[in-house]
Amino acid sequence: MKNSLFTPKPGTKEYRRFVIAENAYRQEIYISFFGIYGSSPGPTLLLNSAVHGNEVVGVEVIRNLVEKIDPKTVCGNILAVPIVNPMGFNFGDRWDPFDRQDMNRIFPGDDDGTLTERVAYFFFENIVRRTDYIIDLHSAEFPDEMIPHIRLRQNSSPDEEFRKLMNSTGINVIWHGPAINGMLQVEAAGIGVQCLTIEIGAAGLINSSDVKAGQDACENVMKILGMIKGVAKIPRFQIVLESNEQWIRSATGGIYKPDIHLGQLVRKGQKIGDIMDPTSFKADNILSPLEGIVTGITHQSIIRSGTRLCMIVHFDNEQKDKHFLMVNPFMPHTKIIENKLWQKIQK
Ligand SMILES: [Zn+2]
Repeated sequence: MKNSLFTPKPGTKEYRRFVIAENAYRQEIYISFFGIYGSSPGPTLLLNSAVHGNEVVGVEVIRNLVEKIDPKTVCGNILAVPIVNPMGFNFGDRWDPFDRQDMNRIFPGDDDGTLTERVAYFFFENIVRRTDYIIDLHSAEFPDEMIPHIRLRQNSSPDEEFRKLMNSTGINVIWHGPAINGMLQVEAAGIGVQCLTIEIGAAGLINSSDVKAGQDACENVMKILGMIKGVAKIPRFQIVLESNEQWIRSATGGIYKPDIHLGQLVRKGQKIGDIMDPTSFKADNILSPLEGIVTGITHQSIIRSGTRLCMIVHFDNEQKDKHFLMVNPFMPHTKIIENKLWQKIQK
């Protein structure tokens, strides 16, 4: 591990609280830290979640991994910060309600700035700088949920090492968007740390299938990095979506009752739900304007004109440049599995 703030003893785990600041009632603002220090040398991997305070699937993923992993069987070190944004978490919100700063836009932070900037600074300076790799766990912004995916924030095509890392998660879908300064993935890359941002589930909710998906992704990455024993299950190729996909928005207000689920293939004209007028109880069917896969859905039933209902991504040969497959490099210690979403699309 690079110049450690911690005192890692090989073959042990430790728990620490790092006090950073105070709230108005002079209670300490601190982040909880777990270290799993392997018996043998290897890379340092940071697992973190709740950079957006209400995205808690990753907290449960990290809890399971911290409990499960025996440091005596690990090569390298695993650092874990389950809640990077304790202010947002405390209010069940994406961000601190006072400064309302998106922590994932202000890294590397500022030790002389707002509370959110100070916490971001501590985390970046003392933990991010001491790692080789990061898995940064997120969920969709409330009230939406997206299909589990990797968020790729680079302006150019990823290099082979990053493609291997993305593939090693075993996740079928990569969402490609522009690099924005202040994002953890972007700022970590600037100091030579590879950061995988993974988005699973919905803000404020935990369910067992999302937790399993997150845990499988983290363990897959550790296997491929040679940190733990085992064979990683990875797809031969991943579907890459561009981040400008359009949501289908409601024309009217009312109560939305969806008839679709994430990953479902829908035909053009198929009913995808109905909107009930709460003043008359009259219901209008909502029909899909296109054929495609449901990649996003709202969990908010009370809607008005303009509310996002769902996202359906269309695939066809004319759009090959827009929606493409990333064929992945061969890696040892892997078992190739099919990309189930792609199989569905091709039927
Ligand atoms: Zn997030």
